[in-house]
Order: sequence, then structure tokens, then C-alpha cells
Amino acid sequence: MSAIDLNARASSSFAQKLAETQALLQQAAQDYAPLNAGDAPRITLACSLGAEDMVLAHLINSLQLNIGIFVLETGQLHPETLALLARLQATSKAPVEVFTPVQEAAIEFVEREGKDAMYRSIALRKACCAIRKMEPLSRALAGKDAWITGLRREQSGARAEVPLIDRSDAAKVKLNPLSDWTWGDVWFYIAQNQVDYNPLHDQFYPSIGCAPCTRAISLGEDFRAGRWWWEDEAAKECGLHVKASSIPITES
Ligand code: SF4
Repeated sequence: MSAIDLNARASSSFAQKLAETQALLQQAAQDYAPLNAGDAPRITLACSLGAEDMVLAHLINSLQLNIGIFVLETGQLHPETLALLARLQATSKAPVEVFTPVQEAAIEFVEREGKDAMYRSIALRKACCAIRKMEPLSRALAGKDAWITGLRREQSGARAEVPLIDRSDAAKVKLNPLSDWTWGDVWFYIAQNQVDYNPLHDQFYPSIGCAPCTRAISLGEDFRAGRWWWEDEAAKECGLHVKASSIPITES
């Protein structure tokens, strides 16, 4: 059974949510348009190539918005995810920028700590994420005034209060246009619009990250149970979306 067959169930307010999401993205493209002709837009979509982010990339393209898209290619992604990235790059009218880790830092870390270091301690996992995700993220967001994510409140307890517009970082506004979408809404949109998606979703991977740190889940398990499954629940939230005050070392 495909992820569409399993999940595509629109909530009763889906049409309204979709209209609000489209309006928010259109307004954001205006608010953060380039200051000078020829400059890049001041807003970008952080695209993990997961289902939510593929919906957002599709919306940006279908609305023809001047919003860029970036992907963090950690060097540890599944072949299925890399193939989807190549397809997105080939089909997206919005530019898709790929950010990779500093190779010397990634190689030195693996030589020093081993390729399975992330399983040995949270500190080592966060150190790996710092090299492969956080440092490239800081380059991706340099010069931007706002960014867009696919966070949804339903994804986990840690995300239960994700706001539509997060102004907690004075330097960069974070927009979460799908914050009140359900998983069923996401898949309903994918089905209706024939959005390309990662085939791993058809193999019970609702949340897809780096290959060593992602596994399929079983029926009844939490949405993010397949991410860093060997760690305590409280430590698992992705550092890309954790406030500096709540977790001392960022990751994801
Ligand atoms: S998710 Fe895993 S492999 Fe990816 S950067 Fe973090 S620790 Fe490293």
C-alpha cells in the first residue's frame, strides 16, 4: 500500500488551510523580495525532501513565487533521497541550491571518531550534525531575512506549539506555513497535485533524514520514532529547529 493510499485524507478545513498557506507564501514573497533588481530573494525554503517540503516546493513553483529553495546534502542521505533531489533540481523553476559539509571537517571527524560515532553518545551525534547540517545551514541562511520550513504541530510533542510565523529569532523570521496541516492533508495535496515524493515514504518512513539515523516505523509508533531511535525522546528534536536557549548544542 502506498503512502498516498495509507494517508491521503483531507481534514474538513483543508480548503481553507490551503488558501491561507497560499496567501502566506504570496505575502512572504512580496515582503522579502530582493531589494535590488538581480539580487537573490531574501527568503528561502529549507527543503529536506520530505513530504511536507515537497508540498511547499510544489506550491512555490505552482504560484511562481520568487522564493529560493535549498537542500542540505549531508553526504549521508539515502540513494532514494539523492534521486529525488536530482529530479527536483531538474523540474523546479525556483532555483534549488545544494549545501554540503566542509569536506575536510567531515573526513577528519570520521577518521577521529569512526563512521558510527553518532550511536556512541548524544555529544558525538550533535558533533556530526554540527559539521554536516548546522554549519551548511548557516551558509544557506546567510544574507536571508526569512526562511520557510515544513514543520507541523502534529509531528511531535516538541513541535506542538509551532507558530505560523516565528519571530523569536530577531535576525531571521521563520515561516511554518503547514503548521496546522495534518499528515492526511499533506498526502491529500500530494495525491491531488501528483507531487513527486521520496519512495521511502511508501516503506513506512514518515520522517526521512540521514541514512544512519533514520529507520522505518511500525504501525502505532510515533511520527518521529524512526529518527535517532536509540536516544531519549527529549533529546531527539532536530537542532535546525531548536531554540539556542533550550538545547545547548545544536544538531540535526
Ligand atoms: S543525522 Fe546522523 S548522519 Fe546526519 S548529520 Fe546528524 S548524526 Fe550525522
